[in-house]
Amino acid sequence: MTYVSYEEWNQISDTFPVNESDESKGALSVLEWAYSTYTADKIVYASSFGAEAIVLLDLIARVNPSAHIVFLDTALHFPETYDVIEKIKERFPSLQIEMKKAALTLDEQRGEHGPALWKRDPNMCCHIRKVVPLQEALSDKTAWISGLRREQSPTRAATQFINKDEKFKNLKICPLIHWTWDEVWEHIKKHDLPFNKLHSQGYPSIGCFPCTSPVSEDGDSRAGRWNNSTKTECGLHA
Ligand code: SF4
Repeated sequence: MTYVSYEEWNQISDTFPVNESDESKGALSVLEWAYSTYTADKIVYASSFGAEAIVLLDLIARVNPSAHIVFLDTALHFPETYDVIEKIKERFPSLQIEMKKAALTLDEQRGEHGPALWKRDPNMCCHIRKVVPLQEALSDKTAWISGLRREQSPTRAATQFINKDEKFKNLKICPLIHWTWDEVWEHIKKHDLPFNKLHSQGYPSIGCFPCTSPVSEDGDSRAGRWNNSTKTECGLHA
């Protein structure tokens, strides 16, 4: 089996074989490459269970029905997000979905850092509840999968199928880079996939409830996250 580590990324970045002309715009061939390159214990999909995630879960289940999925359970998600996770479990019962929690409970965080840390220092809150748990989840992995799309924001416009992830010393595999928002929804509808009901109530991107708001119809797909703040990313994709 070919095994490509973080250090060897440069050797594959120019020669990576992808068929971008299929219906999945390269996503399926990227996933087939990923799951034939890394053993199950070395690759994980860090899923938000947002709209892109639903597409990716459907494609991953076709390639590796027992793939390891990790959800960063901040304990601050909307009930609708937990609902869609349960529906995905019913739809794809073989997927191994891990609910990864932060080391601090919300009470402990309040005790150490004061109330509503997300209002006063959202970077610290994301670090405790998302970045460190993902670091732990990736500590024994070589590659992780993410649902980033180039169209989502200027900071994501240069994302490649395979990215050297300096932050987590891992390879970050992004199969959906060429998908548009409309194509994501066409796929969800065509395959009758479950999705977070908040998407139908003006929430294009759904994170923790204290930091996610509905947006107007012409807002971009990342609008509504950390309103009234310059923050646009939780720190996983810095
Ligand atoms: Fe905290 Fe908001 Fe980040 Fe969630 S999105 S971890 S509530 S700052």
